[in-house]
Order: sequence, then structure tokens, then C-alpha cells
Amino acid sequence: MKQHFTVIHTDGQARLGTLSLPQGDVATPVFMPVGTVGTMKALHHRRLEELDYRLILANTYHLYLRPGLELLEKMGGLPQFSTWDRNFLTDSGGFQFFSLSKFAKFTEEGVKFSSHIDGSKHFFTPEKAIQAQNIIGSHIKMVLDVCTPPNITEKKAYQAHRTTVDWAKRCQKEWQASGEQGLLFGITQGNFYKDLRKLSIEELAALDLPGYAIGGLSVGEEKQVFEEFVHYSTPLLPANKPRYVMGIGTPDYILQAVEAGVDMFDCVYPTRVARNGAAMSFDGLLSLKNERYALDNNPIDPDCTCSACQRYSKSYLRHLIKAKEINALTLLTDHNLTFMKRFMNEVRASIKENRFALYKQAFMDRYYQSSHKES
Ligand SMILES: [Zn+2]
Repeated sequence: MKQHFTVIHTDGQARLGTLSLPQGDVATPVFMPVGTVGTMKALHHRRLEELDYRLILANTYHLYLRPGLELLEKMGGLPQFSTWDRNFLTDSGGFQFFSLSKFAKFTEEGVKFSSHIDGSKHFFTPEKAIQAQNIIGSHIKMVLDVCTPPNITEKKAYQAHRTTVDWAKRCQKEWQASGEQGLLFGITQGNFYKDLRKLSIEELAALDLPGYAIGGLSVGEEKQVFEEFVHYSTPLLPANKPRYVMGIGTPDYILQAVEAGVDMFDCVYPTRVARNGAAMSFDGLLSLKNERYALDNNPIDPDCTCSACQRYSKSYLRHLIKAKEINALTLLTDHNLTFMKRFMNEVRASIKENRFALYKQAFMDRYYQSSHKES
């Protein structure tokens, strides 16, 4: 197999790399925005292209339920259907079964679940997770895993680990049988037990998959627990493979992950808070609904190239948000994804110039001190 990941430079544990994917190379560390059902909510694909996003997420669980695999297959897969001709990463559904767990029941064979849309009954297996992602046509596919919440017993965490490893093997077999379309990433689990985290990484690394995620973090644990486990787990992962932490999108979590040597992360956070009227900035998160912006005639950030900052004041944006104008969602989503792009460019530049630790400190001081003032 062609080498798909190269580490170009390291600064401490932080690393700069290139992920070579079928629809173009991706510079890492990379933030991947989430387009749940095959679109970025409120934003045109064209803007993502202008911002040079080359890898976005789509959710297997959501696409499986709507529009459904039969339709997607007839329409030639998600890249063709959605016209996104760069790269897609799809999750396996494991996290949705976890977060919508009142609708799901795990057995050794797979997951029984009811649709959150119409209550219809479904049964998902590791094999089906791969078949679904093959039909979707994603360029990075994830194995089906069992994600667990904090504060479960070690026995329960061990059982989830055993099933996760077993399912990863079944996913790999299915992926190989179907001609190894795209890259298949493993997901390590182990809950918040270090021995289990280590065992999970060892057993999954033995499968020699093209990349690895640290799953089951950012699931409601305390922030310092996240930090402890990301720093513990990441160096145990194979150094020559891309490392991915699922579900993180705030600057502090991203900086911690990068510091530990993580290459990829995704989260709905920047686009979701945008739709709630919050703008990310180097001076912290600005809640534009706040009265203090009522007469603020300045843009969110004069150095930002997004459609909101190039034209509109905070006062006008606040008015659009308060009036529930659809344009506000687009403008703020554009702004937050422009911010994330600038932020990640700065992160990569700081690693390249061996000053990541200084950058992290300076960023955190400015972003979080300012955020504190805001509240
Ligand atoms: Zn902007």
C-alpha cells in the first residue's frame, strides 16, 4: 500500500504531517468540520473550498437513516451526490449509538436500535458499518466500536474493550474482503482505566490498520481527566500512523491534543455555537446576543476574511441574530470556520518553527482571559 501519512517535523510531541488521501493531501494537525448529513449546516460547499478545507466529516448513522443507503447507492455515493469532490471521513455510528443510547441495545453480534426519526427498528453489525461506509464512499472509514461513559466499573469497561477489539477485527475482515476502499481507522477505547487504554491500543495496533483514533474521550469527563488521558494514550499509538481524537473542537482541547501528538480532530462545536450566535475569536468566544454589542460598529475581527467580518459590524450581526434571520447562521458559521482555519494554520506554523509551547501559552492566555471577561 502507498504510504498515506508522513511526519514532516516534530516539536516536542507535537507533529506536523501530511495525510495523503485520494482527493488531495491534507496538512496535519487538521481540524475537520462536521457535515452530519453531507452538508455543512448553513454553509455552501464553495466557501469550504475557498477556505481550503480538504477533509470533512459525515455521519454514517444519520445517512443510513436518511436518505438511506439504497438512495445513496443509486446516486453514486455521497461524494457524487453532494458534489463534494474533496475528502470525506465517516464515523461508524458507534458514537451515535452511545449518545442516543436510549434507542440502542448492544450485543456481541451488533447493535439493535430504533431510529430517532421514525422509531423504525434496525440492526447494525461491524460488517454492516463497513458496507454502509463503502456505499457512502468515504475516504476514511471508522470501525464500529463500543463507546462508554465515565464512571463505569472496570469490569464493564473491560467487556466494552473486548467487544471493540472483536468488532475491529470483523470490520478489518470486511474492509479487506471488499477491496480495501479508502483507509480504515481503528478506534481505541478503555474508558478511564490506564491499563485498559494501554491494552486496547496494543491489541488494535497489532491489526496494523492505516490509522488510529482515541475514542471515548470528551464524553463528559472532567477537563483534567481528558488532558491526563490524551497525554497518556497518544504516545502509545503507532508513531508512523495518523492519530485522531474524536469529538473535540474547542481551542483548549485541540491544543492539549496537539501537544500530546494528535494529528486529527473533529467537532460540531464551531458550527453549532455559530448557530447559537457565538463568534470564536483570538480574544475568546463572543456571545453576540450580548447587550454590550448593541452599538458596536466594529467587525468581530478586522483581520478576518470571512463574509461577516469583511462587511458587517457586531451591532448588525447582533440584530440579525436577535431577529432570527437565516443569514446570521451562514455569516457566523463562515466566521467560525474561517477562525478555525486561521487557528490551525497558526498551530502548524508554530510547530514548524519549534515554538508550539510558547504559542499554546500565548493563545490560551489571550483566548481564555478574554472569555472570562465576557462572562
Ligand atoms: Zn470573520
